[in-house]
Amino acid sequence: MMDELRELYQEVILDHGKNPRNFRDVEDATSHAHGSNPLCGDQLVVYLKLNLDEVIEDVSFVGKGCAISVASASMMTELVRGKTVDEANDIFDHVHHMCTGEGEPSTANLGPDADRLGVLSGVRQFPVRVKCATLAWHTLKAAIEGGEDATSEA
Ligand code: ZN
Repeated sequence: MMDELRELYQEVILDHGKNPRNFRDVEDATSHAHGSNPLCGDQLVVYLKLNLDEVIEDVSFVGKGCAISVASASMMTELVRGKTVDEANDIFDHVHHMCTGEGEPSTANLGPDADRLGVLSGVRQFPVRVKCATLAWHTLKAAIEGGEDATSEA
């Protein structure tokens, strides 16, 4: 990884890890899901409020975990708020591909969101951290799909 990118990566992860955004529950959530990454001990719950047009009106998380899992969850809530479920699924595909190298890259034009998500790609350097970075996204997907429990093993 280039030094510049590594610095950005560390800066963003540290910032979100220390000051997570949307770290709360949503009282009138329409669904939620619990996610866990037993390899690291990361545990979180993602709350989702969808409106009738399938737009994510509110999204938040609570839980505990390592800096990367918390930072990734924090970024997730910022990025998918106001998006439709379809758009959120595109972002999920993008993140999953970026972090794991598996699956197909999203064909959606994610615009500036793709740049912001780029910092998460740093985890590819640290395979043991990939599940930390993807946990919140798997949990989001579980919440979208009706609140099943998610595990980063899936
Ligand atoms: Zn972790």
